[in-house]
Amino acid sequence: MSFAQRSHTCGEIRAEHAGQTVVLNGWAHKVRDLGGVTFVDLRDRSGLVQLLIDPAKLDPKDIRNECCLSLEGVVRLRSEQTRNPKMPTGDVEIEVTGFQILSAAKPLPFPVSDEDQMNSVNEELRIKYRYLDLRRPSMSKKFALRAAAIRKMRQYLDDRGFTEIETPIFTKSTPEGARDYLVPYRLEPGKFYALPQSPQQYKQMLMVAGLERYYQVARCFRDEAQRADRQPEFTQLDLEMSFVKQEDILELIEGLCVNVTNELNQEFDLGLQEVEPFFRLTYQESMERFGCDKPDLRFGLELFDVSDVVAGSGFGVFSGAVEAGGKVRGVRYPGGIVLSRKDVSGLEDFCKEFGAKGMASFYVARSADDGEGVMALPNGMFVRGGCSKFLSEAELVGILTAAQAEPGDLLCFIADEYSAGNNVLYRLRVEIGERCGLRDPKILRFGFVLDFPLVEWNPEGNRWDSVHHPFTSPKAEDLHLLDSDPGKVRADCYDVVCNGSEWASGSIRIYRPDVQSRVFELLGIDEARQQERFGHILEAFQYGAPPHGGIAPGIDRYLMYLLDEDNIREVIAFPKVGGGYDPFMDAPSTIDPQQWAEMGLRLS
Ligand code: ASP
Repeated sequence: MSFAQRSHTCGEIRAEHAGQTVVLNGWAHKVRDLGGVTFVDLRDRSGLVQLLIDPAKLDPKDIRNECCLSLEGVVRLRSEQTRNPKMPTGDVEIEVTGFQILSAAKPLPFPVSDEDQMNSVNEELRIKYRYLDLRRPSMSKKFALRAAAIRKMRQYLDDRGFTEIETPIFTKSTPEGARDYLVPYRLEPGKFYALPQSPQQYKQMLMVAGLERYYQVARCFRDEAQRADRQPEFTQLDLEMSFVKQEDILELIEGLCVNVTNELNQEFDLGLQEVEPFFRLTYQESMERFGCDKPDLRFGLELFDVSDVVAGSGFGVFSGAVEAGGKVRGVRYPGGIVLSRKDVSGLEDFCKEFGAKGMASFYVARSADDGEGVMALPNGMFVRGGCSKFLSEAELVGILTAAQAEPGDLLCFIADEYSAGNNVLYRLRVEIGERCGLRDPKILRFGFVLDFPLVEWNPEGNRWDSVHHPFTSPKAEDLHLLDSDPGKVRADCYDVVCNGSEWASGSIRIYRPDVQSRVFELLGIDEARQQERFGHILEAFQYGAPPHGGIAPGIDRYLMYLLDEDNIREVIAFPKVGGGYDPFMDAPSTIDPQQWAEMGLRLS
């Protein structure tokens, strides 16, 4: 079917076009029939412009919201009173002289043009009709930003001598800590490809191949529990470099992040604060000070440890925990004095959700008459309520000092085994930060967490598991502990974190076949299994493999940071919901009996 092609885009029409005849193509964003005249906001990818249709001359009845139109009209200046300063095209309107409906639209499943109402539309419905959902300017803007981010990342790496290379999707299992997605191989029933959890092994082979600097905008597939910041398939900026030390990779990724983010912030008017130089913490420091390996450093409120202070306390909850080898640690809640008993028990429930047995607390009063039962301490401070009555003066003073408490604080304590305590305390700290308004979405606080342990003990599997993946290099100075005390071996391994979330993981890799074999062995992979699963890597390392390392920041998560989105699905054009369901395609789906047979498969 022929149609009149546009002479202009909707968003570019201005007062200077007044009097001109234009042809526009686009969608009827909003139709308003005012009886004597019909107004239509016409939308294309450049923006919106108002159309005016005189029913005496043209019949607008077939123009429904979201139908696709071509039209001809004359640009007119709007009268002073009807100008709309909020729209870039708000000084003008198009008096339509003729139109053609290129494609009609059925009644819509949701009001595409009404952003407020769209906020309450069921998400699965939006994804089922994603082609309508994406018509919203607020949605299409996200993908313009996403494209620009990827373009700038590519440019940054291209300028530094990297080569972009695609690696296979049908491959063999490469462990990153998740379950594999498997694809049956028709020609040899019983054999399967695995979809890559990351291009890890291929990128290392590109280093053996002498490429030296590789990157890829890589799709990765991981069958793991879904969370707000996870999808079964997601995109990473995957990169690898040869003849580098950890510091070279850290510098590269920090430079990339700071440059790209600050440029996007300007170009897209994101209103973010300039990205500051990255902070650096070791894994151990991060766990001690923030209770986790992905700390939110937009605010302080560091955890404090009072185990020594309360070790012999008459308050059994505290002294008992220390006696059992645990710790008593806590976090300040600035201004928490205003919380009622009920509010505090709400906080305690929050802690219990994450496995705490309980949460002890007391207030730091602001004066001697700041509420009932205030106790004055020799250091000039005051406390009241909660567990303060079970603690001695000396213990209370010691706690206030360790907590660097301020008048008006609520001090919250978790008495438990170290890692169980961390699991609660880090969430409690973030929750308090949130409630105190300290998690400013306009600040992106990026930083490195360094020196992760190489392996961690898996009590269920009764074995050592990689903290990162099996190709991560142990630190040279810790190699001697590999057999005697593997849990103490640190790795040349680093994460980039941002605002309490993990953005990137990377490491310096093993490149010597003997070290790689030793690490496989430590992970309980015997020689026969090593050959079967990773023989190709062990073989390749015998042909002059260079020292190398890399990193892989998540692109979807990056967009979440830029746009302050809590939900990864908002930055993916066609995301999965629930456990991996695609509501648009209705995938996964059943297959024909003939396909079962072809694959040599049957349901047991
Ligand atoms: N494979 C990545 C790397 O170490 C990390 C990841 O995929 O999370 O470069």
